[in-house]
Amino acid sequence: MKKISILGATGSIGTQTLDILREHPSAFKLVAISVGKNLELARKMITEFQPELVSVQEYHDCNTLKSEFPKTKFTFGDEGLVEVAVYPSADILVNAVIGSVGLNPTLQAIESGKTIAIANKETLVTAGHLVMEAAERNGVALLPVDSEHSAIFQCLQGEKDKNIERLILTASGGSFRDRTRNDLEGVTVKEALNHPNWSMGAKITIDSATMMNKGLEVIEAHWLYNMPYEKIDVLLHKESIIHSMVEFHDSSIIAQLGTPDMRVPIQYALSYPDRLPLTTSQRLNLAQIGTLHFQEMDKNRFRCMQFAYVAGKKGGTLPTVLNAANEVAVAAFLNEKITFLQIEDMIEKALSRHDVIIDPDLSIIHEVDKETRQYVSSLL
Ligand code: NDP
Ligand code: MG
Repeated sequence: MKKISILGATGSIGTQTLDILREHPSAFKLVAISVGKNLELARKMITEFQPELVSVQEYHDCNTLKSEFPKTKFTFGDEGLVEVAVYPSADILVNAVIGSVGLNPTLQAIESGKTIAIANKETLVTAGHLVMEAAERNGVALLPVDSEHSAIFQCLQGEKDKNIERLILTASGGSFRDRTRNDLEGVTVKEALNHPNWSMGAKITIDSATMMNKGLEVIEAHWLYNMPYEKIDVLLHKESIIHSMVEFHDSSIIAQLGTPDMRVPIQYALSYPDRLPLTTSQRLNLAQIGTLHFQEMDKNRFRCMQFAYVAGKKGGTLPTVLNAANEVAVAAFLNEKITFLQIEDMIEKALSRHDVIIDPDLSIIHEVDKETRQYVSSLL
């Protein structure tokens, strides 16, 4: 029995992780969770799974829940996230929180030797060098949850890194795949939230529409697989059936296929190196699908992806700026304070004014993250 803790249990990845735990009660036990502000869902989870420790975002919510569930231990805020991340009895931490708020708990979990199933890509984008260095030093495994990275991980089982020619990340194209750049002027939040293939949290759905999600995933792949940016390509694949591929020196390409269902990569991270049945997931019927489509990525159409390649290649604090600017700009778009195309304008401004600091430590990362958020907020 593996003991599981989850950061961001009330989110899209968090709730799908609980689906997996429900399906395999004898394989996994939930011991600790963090939630944000969704107390209604938190109450249901506490009643159903009875975790020993629960962290909430706000102090007053912590007091409310304490009086309702006297047997459960409650904590709150950023320190609460860390408490859940290092919870002693947990074997695997599922990091499914959104944004770079996941960085500190991830680093602390690594220092305490936890295996980490990582969905929280912003943490790897903002400080991938610190996370990977800490993981290596502590001999800790970072198991990918993101579907593309899980696909690559699955393709690489039994393969030697030295034989890899390149990684090929597939991209669905997001909500606006079939629109021209001119058509993007004035698109609404509702339209942007309507993803054709995947049902996900609001921030990542907007990231998919701007193609920043793929940019963040390129940086995520760079760190997880120690791969230079020149060897990471993106291919438009509108069906989201091939979740990503690896090309080897002998010209062989290995791909991982499946219906678009995040519970598959979540479960693989939890069951690795084993596989478990997943009866509630739809099987892939290739005869019914008939045809798969592939198309080159139009880099001018999707500027955010380009920004990510540039930020990743330059490195240092530039990916931190990219991520922080994106988080603030996407939140502003979701709150209808800026237009869709202004998201990329703001990120571009933040990147172009920044003097890159090479090999930043954690305090510099935090400083640059904070300063970038203040700058982008001042533009609103
Ligand atoms: P959601 O927005 O659905 O969920 C985010 C979770 O984090 C919620 O539990 C939320 O709590 C909590 N949370 C948000 N802000 C804070 C905060 N400041 N402090 C503490 N908790 C907070 O996100 P997703 O599940 O969509 O995404 C999670 C991560 O996984 C992201 O990094 C995303 O890029 C990645 N990912 C997601 C995929 C998907 O299919 N959704 C696919 C691949 C990667 P509450 O709701 O209670 O307020
Ligand atoms: Mg993905």
